[in-house]
Amino acid sequence: LIIFANGYAQNKKHMDYKRPIEERISFLIKEMTLEEKVGQMNQYNGSWDVTGPKPESGSNEEKYNNIKKGWVGSMLTVRGVKEVRAVQKIAVEETRLGIPLLFGFDVIHGYKTLSPIPLAEAASWDLEAIKNSARVAALEASASGLNWTFAPNVDITNDARWGRVMEGAGEDPYLGSKIATARVKGFQGEHFDNTSIIACAKHFAAYGFVEAGREYNSVDMSNSKLYNTVLPPFKATVDAGIRTFMNSFNTLNGIPATGNVFLQRDILKGAWGFKGFVVSDWASIAEMITHGYAANGADAARKAVVAGSDMDMESNVYVTELVKLAKKGTVKESLIDDAVRRILRVKFELGLFDDPYKYCDEAREKSNIGNKANNEDVLDMAKKSIVLLKNDKNLLPLKKSGAKIALIGALANDKNSPLGSWRIAADDNTAVSVLEGMQQYKNNVLVYEQGTDVALNKQSFLDEVKINSTDFSGFEAAKKIAKEADVVVMVLGEIGFQSGEGRSRTELDLPGNQQQLLEEVYKVNPNIVLVLNNGRPLALPWAAEHIPAIVEAWQLGTQSGNAIAQVLYGDYNPSGKLPMSFPRNVGQCPIYYNLYNTGRPTDKDNNVFWSHYSDVEKTPLYPFGYGLSYTSFAYKNLKIAKPSFQKGEKIEVSVDVTNTGNFDGKEIVQLYINDPVASLVRPIKELKAFELIELKKGETKTIHFVLSDEALGFYDNDGKFLVESGLFNIMVGWNSNEGLSSKFELK
Ligand code: BGC
Repeated sequence: LIIFANGYAQNKKHMDYKRPIEERISFLIKEMTLEEKVGQMNQYNGSWDVTGPKPESGSNEEKYNNIKKGWVGSMLTVRGVKEVRAVQKIAVEETRLGIPLLFGFDVIHGYKTLSPIPLAEAASWDLEAIKNSARVAALEASASGLNWTFAPNVDITNDARWGRVMEGAGEDPYLGSKIATARVKGFQGEHFDNTSIIACAKHFAAYGFVEAGREYNSVDMSNSKLYNTVLPPFKATVDAGIRTFMNSFNTLNGIPATGNVFLQRDILKGAWGFKGFVVSDWASIAEMITHGYAANGADAARKAVVAGSDMDMESNVYVTELVKLAKKGTVKESLIDDAVRRILRVKFELGLFDDPYKYCDEAREKSNIGNKANNEDVLDMAKKSIVLLKNDKNLLPLKKSGAKIALIGALANDKNSPLGSWRIAADDNTAVSVLEGMQQYKNNVLVYEQGTDVALNKQSFLDEVKINSTDFSGFEAAKKIAKEADVVVMVLGEIGFQSGEGRSRTELDLPGNQQQLLEEVYKVNPNIVLVLNNGRPLALPWAAEHIPAIVEAWQLGTQSGNAIAQVLYGDYNPSGKLPMSFPRNVGQCPIYYNLYNTGRPTDKDNNVFWSHYSDVEKTPLYPFGYGLSYTSFAYKNLKIAKPSFQKGEKIEVSVDVTNTGNFDGKEIVQLYINDPVASLVRPIKELKAFELIELKKGETKTIHFVLSDEALGFYDNDGKFLVESGLFNIMVGWNSNEGLSSKFELK
């Protein structure tokens, strides 16, 4: 199917779909001028009405003209079939070569129908559900004409101060790798049909370790930490067939990631053999000037292309500088050819040369986006993402009839915050609120007071986000309904834009006067179920001590209120486990379970006695992997098949898990290892396997894990993978801190 109207491309060998892709690319590259090649490496933000009249002046006019000249390879944030078709038409029908564009978009947790924020989804540990959630996002985004998402974010992070923790899968490289794989498969689908969107692993690399959690800050880290903690999820995406990477804003050991040869050439395209392309982060090539690593635009362009950044997102320096640099011989044309080959490969693989409008299906756009099936799927994901942190007095599940329930908190009827950050295509106020969710359970008396206000001041990255903290006028009304109620449900936490890019915080408390509201209400009725809505771990020691029931409900997307209500009323038994440690206070950050021992003595559980704080316990408030259920589980009979194994042998571990409570339920059985003596100090625990199981009440299942010796190895500071003989400790448990332990030897 050849649509090109200008006639040029017809009968050209690269248009022959029967030829192998690499051959087609070679034919096409031979046809291209240097300008057209560099054009493929240029990506613009399409922030003007591309279906409207031609822009008359300014940068949009330049962009428009450059699309016409064939100097653009991709656009971002153009959306909707009408707009995509209009821009694709210029590229395909009006340029000399008619090369189709890639349309990129931040589809981070859904397109219009939103799933929970990625950190919340990670709490499900449910890889099938996570994959399906990415599939739903792909179905809607592709129906809107898009063929590329800037997701998944696979940045491992230990620091809840950093606002972008909401975009990733938390602190653990093993869980992070599994989730990264699931997301890539969900976005890209089985094969590239018109529901596939190309995935993009970001941000390469180490962005999650910006110093002090301050956005865009620098990163200094050992190579061993980089290889063992940061890189595994990225590697997993390559193994899963991902086609694009995005580099990051931070420096790594003094070199901006965007200009980092070691990361992009040596590791990604070298050791890992990645055949896709790397897009810069937004203007990150030009940021190398501000970093103090490049003298000017030309220098930045040269350094970025040498380092392997193939496409320039909005720095505008490739399109203005690279042709000149190549003509002078400062940049080898072979580097440009390599980048262009990578970009064209993705376009050919997607089938865009054969049908550049394959994503432009108005009928599907109408029928798919926001449909019932997608809403059902995001509801399912939302329920699975909820983590029960505390349930004393069996306050939960709530009785379904005859109870008087007071619902309090400004987030309780907030239809916007549950959508979270990064939901560019979704309309404001489209989430089901907790109030709306709970109102469906009609046999109780439900009364609502907001108590305090949450109001977003401004939305720009640079402006402070403030929650109104001065208005106490709603407290009395809230206390009044609390006093008369059997149970109080309080929905507190962060507003939707308090996490995300540019949203670092130095406090991890309940913003504004929400903590005071909580304490005041507690005085009149302590039977409180605290429902947290937040985009990062919060430090809530008072609540953990006093409030009998706490439900971590993150920002759960479009179906938020329905998911929360179903969990509160016991129509869904929660099974999520935290993907990030929750600290006791900010001073503990960064805090994570897979830390190293100090030289000071430890107890039998590897707890560090001496290395501590004098004002607060050193442990997290809630550890990684923690989460309760309405039922209870007992672990017994941890067995390792043999006392010792030869290298290369499979290590078999089993454990019996029984549902000992009164509800059917799900449990996430977690296996951790520890290498107590190694040539490099190893973490006190590392997750190496897990299984999500379902048990009817009273039921017992034997869970079998099989580890290869690879699970016992690690990377040294030269990037060499070592599997060392010796003793290994193993723990199988219900969170990273509690379980049954045993040991074996690797000979
Ligand atoms: C973010 C990326 C995002 C890009 C395009 C940048 O500021 O860091 O994650 O994909 O903008 O919107």
